[in-house]
Amino acid sequence: MTHIITSLCLRDSGCVEVCPVECIVPGIPQNEWPWYYIDPATCIDCGACVPECPFAAIFPESDVPSAYTAKGGEYVSKVGFSEHWEGINHHNVKVALETAKQLAAGEVVDLTEDIQPHYQYFEGGPGYKANDTDEAKATRG
Ligand code: SF4
Ligand code: SF4
Repeated sequence: MTHIITSLCLRDSGCVEVCPVECIVPGIPQNEWPWYYIDPATCIDCGACVPECPFAAIFPESDVPSAYTAKGGEYVSKVGFSEHWEGINHHNVKVALETAKQLAAGEVVDLTEDIQPHYQYFEGGPGYKANDTDEAKATRG
């Protein structure tokens, strides 16, 4: 089992530092990999990352909601979405997303679609190499 970061992630980066096995990596390039990703092979399911997320984006894999009902106003970020979202991350670095979508109250979203990209990111995608990019270094302030 692993924990999963869903498309509610807006790249705050706060979860990265609390992970005892350092298995959370920023998605790079951001327009192809819009969230942060957890390495399923390394995650020990400790749950330490969950309360660190200001957007409640992280779930144990078996609890990822297939019918997440939006409170209204929250954003999801996914390849194919095209709204702009801007904020400040955990290190006071500006985050700008062009792959966002604001949810309406009562809108239902299947977040289980967000599970597989974690496996793909580490099994053929950038994986831990993303940590060494200038883009990733910039997110750390
Ligand atoms: S703390 Fe939440 S929003 Fe920030 S990178 Fe982690 S999952 Fe994404
Ligand atoms: S559950 Fe624990 S080991 Fe897994 S990503 Fe979160 S902090 Fe890291």
